Amino acid sequence: MNVQERWSERLLAIREQGLARELLCLDWIGPTKAVLDGQQMDVFSSNDYLGLASHPDMLAAWQGGGSGSSRLISGTRQVHAELEDELARRYGRPVLVFSSGYQANIAVMSTLFDEHLKVASDRLNHASIIDGLRLSSCSVDIVEHGQFSSHADAHVVEGLYSMDGDCLDLQRFREGFLVVDEAHAVGCIGPNGLGVAKQQGIDPDVVIGTFGKAFGAAGAFVVCDQDAKELLISAGRSFVYTTALAESAAAAALLGVRLANDERRERLWNNTRAFRAGLKALGLKALGTEHIVPVVLGDSTMAVSARLRELGVFVPGIRYPTVRKGLERLRFSLSAEHSGDQISHALESLNKCI
Ligand code: PMP
Repeated sequence: MNVQERWSERLLAIREQGLARELLCLDWIGPTKAVLDGQQMDVFSSNDYLGLASHPDMLAAWQGGGSGSSRLISGTRQVHAELEDELARRYGRPVLVFSSGYQANIAVMSTLFDEHLKVASDRLNHASIIDGLRLSSCSVDIVEHGQFSSHADAHVVEGLYSMDGDCLDLQRFREGFLVVDEAHAVGCIGPNGLGVAKQQGIDPDVVIGTFGKAFGAAGAFVVCDQDAKELLISAGRSFVYTTALAESAAAAALLGVRLANDERRERLWNNTRAFRAGLKALGLKALGTEHIVPVVLGDSTMAVSARLRELGVFVPGIRYPTVRKGLERLRFSLSAEHSGDQISHALESLNKCI
């Protein structure tokens, strides 16, 4: 069998297990509405939690071309420094901007963790953390969700878990070296939207945040001490060997950071509360406490998701291997821009489908 035949065979196996993924092209007509195959949908699956991606100023910020090379060659622009300064002021520590959260995690895990460290990684951590640890020379222990390991020198956790919608009590990790990926929390949770750790009065050694979710733009950042920042600049391969975040994206990210305010956070929280209360009234149990609202339906998840789509509610099913078999779920992501009518419609539709 040649390599192409082996691809076909692997694809066939994926299809036979019902695990083939497809790319859907949504035509957005507002912060929470899109058209799919001619049908208008209320979208409950975007990480644009504050509705900033379609803010008129945000659309205007996306101007200019690519940055042409790595940050280390000629890709660094004034706006990268402004973005780093703005976040450094907010966190009170040095900040380094990356082209994506995936790359930020790869760099943090593979550069800052060395062969002398035993690192405990939460079982539910994101793929980018897992892949970064695979590239690292540290030794890795995968621990149960939320567990502190007394054998570990360092712990890696997420602030708000994207598949379970829960926040850990970070106090238990206070003693050792702590890395917190706040991808789904920054902009939304904590004082000034600085994340779950700040909300809990914890100052992790390293914080990772993204601009592609609540801040409505693209790219990511790492908060750490000055030596760690310089090490990432000199030895973080996913920082060094990639084209710098486009100037327009960095400008959009800076705007997103400035536009994310308490008024938007409050609207997000009100929508979250209303939606979670509505689910409870329907007798449905949701995981977590925040604006990511997973409803575990197991085997019927994909069928319910398809039926909801027919009713104009777009919420994809999350299935194996992203989550364990039997724990397949609908994952509703709330936005500050969802209207009361959209929330009621989603709840009524869900009630019809299950
Ligand atoms: N960390 C977590 C927890 C994430 O959920 C994601 C994206 N889904 C990332 C990192 C990667 O961020 P980006 O999309 O900016 O690559």
